[in-house]
Amino acid sequence: MLGKLSGWEDTIVALATPHGIGAIGVIRLSGEKTIEIVNQLFPSKDLSQQKSHTIHVGFLKDGDKVLDEVVISLFKNPKSYTGEDVIEISCHGSPFIQEQVIHTLTKYGARLAKPGEFTQRAFLKGKLDLTQAEAVADLIASNTEASQKTALHNIRGGFSTVLKELRDQLISFSALIELELDFSQEDVEFADRSKFYELIHRSQKVTSELLQSFQLGNVIKNGVSVAIVGKPNAGKSTLLNTLLNENRAIVSDIAGTTRDTIEEVLNINGILFRLIDTAGIRKSTDAIEVIGVEKSMEKMQQADLVLYLFDVNAESQTELETALQQVQQQNKNYLLIGNKVDVIGEEAAQQKFSGDGVLFIAAKSHRHIDVLKQRLIDKVVQGTVQTENTIVTNARHYAALQEVEKSLNDIKGGLDNNLPGDLLALDIRRCLHFLGDITGEITNEDRLDYIFSKFCIGK
Ligand code: GDP
Repeated sequence: MLGKLSGWEDTIVALATPHGIGAIGVIRLSGEKTIEIVNQLFPSKDLSQQKSHTIHVGFLKDGDKVLDEVVISLFKNPKSYTGEDVIEISCHGSPFIQEQVIHTLTKYGARLAKPGEFTQRAFLKGKLDLTQAEAVADLIASNTEASQKTALHNIRGGFSTVLKELRDQLISFSALIELELDFSQEDVEFADRSKFYELIHRSQKVTSELLQSFQLGNVIKNGVSVAIVGKPNAGKSTLLNTLLNENRAIVSDIAGTTRDTIEEVLNINGILFRLIDTAGIRKSTDAIEVIGVEKSMEKMQQADLVLYLFDVNAESQTELETALQQVQQQNKNYLLIGNKVDVIGEEAAQQKFSGDGVLFIAAKSHRHIDVLKQRLIDKVVQGTVQTENTIVTNARHYAALQEVEKSLNDIKGGLDNNLPGDLLALDIRRCLHFLGDITGEITNEDRLDYIFSKFCIGK
């Protein structure tokens, strides 16, 4: 497989830390000529004579010209991230110095790395499987504790271990079934059908759990979209601001000032909530307001969760019920929130809307905002973010798992109908293909290039 990929024999270089000014910047090289190239710039020691996993301080020079005083970390193959010789040069964090160093390294034979090329090499050298490599990309992109945990779990092989087990068992069964084909005249059965049933049943269970986890996985990776809806002046913008503790949305006493939708991101216990403030639900003749109302209907449908906010002082119970019907038509997942309880008091509010499952708050004075945050979490993950469990966060894996599920159903149907081994074998092969597709055991260069191109350069 290695031979097919273009440029894999080059020694590659890239800045591994973010661009811009920092205390230090790390430049990474990987490939056969890594040590040879850096040696030409590093007169103080012969790095080829040094042990792996050691660090070395000295000047980096292009001929007589000093580029920087640096720290070199040396990782000799195969014990490195990529499995090749790797050097990380920690230089001073000025973009000018970093560019000069990288430029000089290319002058001495290194090539600029493509996005994800370091991780791609790690994959090709068998250091990581494809799900682990993809998890590296997720980890870099992760911006909450929950998404970081899931990515780390997958880097450690959480996801692939489950799939590999299934695949291995299926492979052994398919071998037995294929063996039966060789003896087809004799009408023998090497593969114990009842055990095979068990295996298929177990595989179906695992697959369907993984497929179900995608929803939670998506939540962890991409966040939960929450539409805050309600009549003008209910306090939507105030609530948004209270939740975010900042004043980005416009707050005003004049009904209908939040004309457009605004999206803000909130992190509660490691889960991202994308809050959408929408114009109030109200029949309106004002052109801009109408667009706002349409948008708010649309946002309600698209949102994972709807917060219906109302003013406990202004709203009657009948009005609340009518509004609730509208909300329920758009989205089944909602929370009812009665705002401004500071005015009539909590008890009066509870009496007025008894039995409606309303959460009472005062957005302006932050009353019960903590309870609201907890309800948000409960609503989305039913109180359990099991980030230690295997969770599918990747759309590519999800699509392949759907195919796995289909082929498992076909195998099961085949067994039910006593299909001959050769037909079963076809479905098993299809199932194996898609399982292997996820972990990268079956793959092709185009697909790999596509997957790794989504990484940032230097990874
Ligand atoms: P929106 O139109 O739904 O976005 O409502 P706003 O957030 O603009 O709020 C409308 C008015 O209600 C403003 O004058 C807010 O200060 C006021 N308001 C919001 N929350 C509360 C609250 O908890 N208590 C009281 N007394 N007033 C509030």
